[in-house]
Amino acid sequence: MRLTTAVSELPGVGKRRAQALGRLGIVTVTDLLRHTPMRYEKEAAEGAIGQLPTDGKTVGTARGEVVACRWVPGQGYGRKGRFEATLSDLAEDFSGLETPTAGLVLPPSGTRGGAEASVASSLGAPAGGGSAGSTSEGSTSAGSTSGGGTLRLTWFNAGYLRERIHAGMRLRVSGKAKMFGPYPQMVGAKWEVLEDEAASPTAKADRLRPVYPATEGLASTVIERVVEEALPWALTQVVDPLPEELLTHHAMPSLGEALRMMHRPADREEPKAARRRLAFNELLLLQLGIAMRRAEVEQKCAAPALHYSEAIDAHIRERFPFALTDTQSAAVAQLAEDLTRERPMNRMLQGDVGSGKTVVALYALLMAVADRKQGALMAPTELLAEQHYLSITALLAGSNVRVALVTGNQREDLGAVASGEADVVVGTHALLSASVTFRDLAVVVIDEQHRFGVMQRASLRQPMAEDPGGTDGRSGRRERMPHTLVMTATPIPRTLSLTLLGDLDNTTLTGLPPGRTPVQNRVVGPGQSDEVYTYLRTRLERGEQAYVVVPAIEARGGGESAQTLKSVRAQAELLREKFLAGYEVAAVHGKLKRETRQRVMERFRRGEVAVLVATTVIEVGVDVPNATVMVIEHAERFGLAQLHQLRGRVGRGGGRRSLCVFVAEPTTEDAEARMDAVASTNDGFKIAELDLQIRGMGEILGTRQSGLPAMKHATIPGDLDLLQLAKRDAAAIVAGDPELTAPEHAGLRRVLTRLYGEALGLVDVG
Ligand code: ADP
Ligand code: MG
Repeated sequence: MRLTTAVSELPGVGKRRAQALGRLGIVTVTDLLRHTPMRYEKEAAEGAIGQLPTDGKTVGTARGEVVACRWVPGQGYGRKGRFEATLSDLAEDFSGLETPTAGLVLPPSGTRGGAEASVASSLGAPAGGGSAGSTSEGSTSAGSTSGGGTLRLTWFNAGYLRERIHAGMRLRVSGKAKMFGPYPQMVGAKWEVLEDEAASPTAKADRLRPVYPATEGLASTVIERVVEEALPWALTQVVDPLPEELLTHHAMPSLGEALRMMHRPADREEPKAARRRLAFNELLLLQLGIAMRRAEVEQKCAAPALHYSEAIDAHIRERFPFALTDTQSAAVAQLAEDLTRERPMNRMLQGDVGSGKTVVALYALLMAVADRKQGALMAPTELLAEQHYLSITALLAGSNVRVALVTGNQREDLGAVASGEADVVVGTHALLSASVTFRDLAVVVIDEQHRFGVMQRASLRQPMAEDPGGTDGRSGRRERMPHTLVMTATPIPRTLSLTLLGDLDNTTLTGLPPGRTPVQNRVVGPGQSDEVYTYLRTRLERGEQAYVVVPAIEARGGGESAQTLKSVRAQAELLREKFLAGYEVAAVHGKLKRETRQRVMERFRRGEVAVLVATTVIEVGVDVPNATVMVIEHAERFGLAQLHQLRGRVGRGGGRRSLCVFVAEPTTEDAEARMDAVASTNDGFKIAELDLQIRGMGEILGTRQSGLPAMKHATIPGDLDLLQLAKRDAAAIVAGDPELTAPEHAGLRRVLTRLYGEALGLVDVG
């Protein structure tokens, strides 16, 4: 037997059990070991029935044979009945124990299997005669034992037990017993059929019983038995991937020992120590994967070290129509330092919606241009790419910097990109396609990176350009890679970013630039729509503009949603004809032709359109300061981060009070929590923490979204200390042994390659 052996080959696992185990994801013995208990139940030492505590408070456990059982139907209203059974000591189990129930006589087998009538009648006077006389006066007092070999069991409203418990069966029961007449009685005892005595040895001492995640047709107790069967030999085969030295240093148990502590804990502390070890395992492997990837890039790739001087700094700042805020200046200084090095920059710029990230990014792009190289800005949507293109072109008007736009539909500038005529290239992920070649790309900025998966981000870190004619002798034979800056307006809680973005350096913009005013928030019910749009009219009369966000483009044919879900078309129509008659209402959504969309956006920018009805295409990047009101219909349908993004479109008009109205009908607790959150704060970092609380790390870190392996034992922020430990250890390990070729790292390398090889772009090193 090996760890890779299929569980179906274990004794006691037939076809049906193997299938049920398969439903729990347990195929091999390794899977079985990984299937750790979700909790533990304290089980008192098993004693003879005569030794059960009968104070009605202390849980006792005993085993015995069912000598009689019956169903007593309920009387009158409700007609609830009860199931009763009589359990008698098993002589062989306790023959060696000193018991006060000496003289116990098992009933003759004829009595046990007897007809219903005789069984029922035997309940009053237990078969075998028990040990009458041993129930002395004092034995009913608290803490005493019953002194008899017979236990009465009662379960109320448990008609189903008629099918499950029969005379002749052997049971282990546990519960609180109390004297009832001459016999101890347990009401609602936990019970377990002892199918195979050998596999369920009598527990001679108190113990913790593992409770496993179970499934239909496979009880926790069955899993427990299968684990117990495999554990003794399986644990001897477990190889610990972590170096011994590290474990000693952190005083953590070995992997095998941790698994033993999980499945068969000696006390309450052991599972805790074991969980920490297993959580550390997960976090260390993750941090190692990230650190190795990073080291590989740094070793094999070089970016152009850009020239930088006070003159260049002054020249770039001149291009901006405003002075940079302190936090922007600090960010720019950090970027400039990165860009003057050969080590490819790998930095994230975080900042709330409207915190002014665009100019910081532009600064980095212009540093490339100042060195006669190219910079690229990649946006997640065509709409946003177009917006960036327009605002950057405007900022750079009058300079001789040439800006190009490359999207799936817009490819005219490809030649200029290849020849180097275009200095700054704005685009979508179309920039990544093979048909786009740059003459000399030095800096890449990825906007709103949360829209791109981790995997896409990783692919951007691949070398993008050939070393142009070896002009840069310093890079030697290393591959050339541009510096990258990713920007996100959905701040990632610090705790989470350590996990999710462990490979990125971080720069955070705090506060908002001058001219931005905090948005006022209102959450209203759908019944108040009339009021909302009547008020909106008064704002339009003052010359302000508004967004109305709806979840759907058009009402889908038939069904409930067509009736109830507001769509771009229907809502635009309704506003034009009813509430906002006389004002120009236009619509944008993802399915519009590019020219149409650009025209509409341009008219909105110029103020010719008063109200823009839109889907979430306007979620990011749109910047029209005169738009001061946003109405979000069906707000309960949007995620928290998305709502925060959306509302970031307003509050950009210096001085005027902006308003965001969330029209919502929350039907779930989560939706209600989201509404409370957006109403309670405008701070994106707080929103992010609340989002983490509502959705949990699993959701945010979900394998599907992040491309990272799911974690079973580690939780964030709960295991933040372990995460930091793992990060430090991983850095130290990779610094000393970048490819994990040292013998003590062989286990780590093997597991890493298997687990994260693909996700983190590790090469299969064997
Ligand atoms: P985001 O971080 O959401 O991308 P933007 O870069 O779009 O934010 O900036 C939001 C608004 O603030 C824009 O209108 C921009 O022109 C303005 N802005 C940025 N920096 C400054 C500054 N230093 N002084 C005044 N306005 C600024
Ligand atoms: Mg932006």
